Amino acid sequence: MSSQPHIVLPWVVRRTRLPLLSLRCVDCRSASATTGEGRFRVNANGKLLDVWLLVRCVSCDRTSKLTVHERAPVRSFDPAELDGYLANDPELVASTLLDPLLARRNRFTLQWEGAWRLDVPPARLDEAWPVQVEIVFEDPVPVRPERLIAQGLGLSRNEVLRRIKCDIPLRRPTSTGFAFTVMAGD
Ligand SMILES: [Zn+2]
Repeated sequence: MSSQPHIVLPWVVRRTRLPLLSLRCVDCRSASATTGEGRFRVNANGKLLDVWLLVRCVSCDRTSKLTVHERAPVRSFDPAELDGYLANDPELVASTLLDPLLARRNRFTLQWEGAWRLDVPPARLDEAWPVQVEIVFEDPVPVRPERLIAQGLGLSRNEVLRRIKCDIPLRRPTSTGFAFTVMAGD
């Protein structure tokens, strides 16, 4: 007997703070840096602008500059974007830090541990099996689907692997939305 899955409200992965950066400090060899309160530095050279995002070593406070724009013509900037750099706009700090291009260019990775949460709307999941759940990512947090599902349903990883039907690999980290179906337990 097959029945249509019972669909519940989406689960949401949200950032709770900015992630740290895996960046080796040249002074103390610590491997983590933070954007702290979030500051840009803008330097004008004729009609060209350099923009950096400043980060601090978490252990010795040494400041490093991450290149955001290098010798870019002033006229190529949207005025609102330029104002954001000059005002250290927190949203621009976040979107700049989370832009994968910045990480590639400056050779760091983001440390998401403790910087996100999974919001699961209250629902009685045992009313009608199977249940279909969609997970939405508000921020690009890379997490293994099996971990999210285990946390959201309060199941063990083994149970997740046994009871979940999903089109994407459960063990490979993803940061884009997906849906899965929970089958009835034994
Ligand atoms: Zn340091």
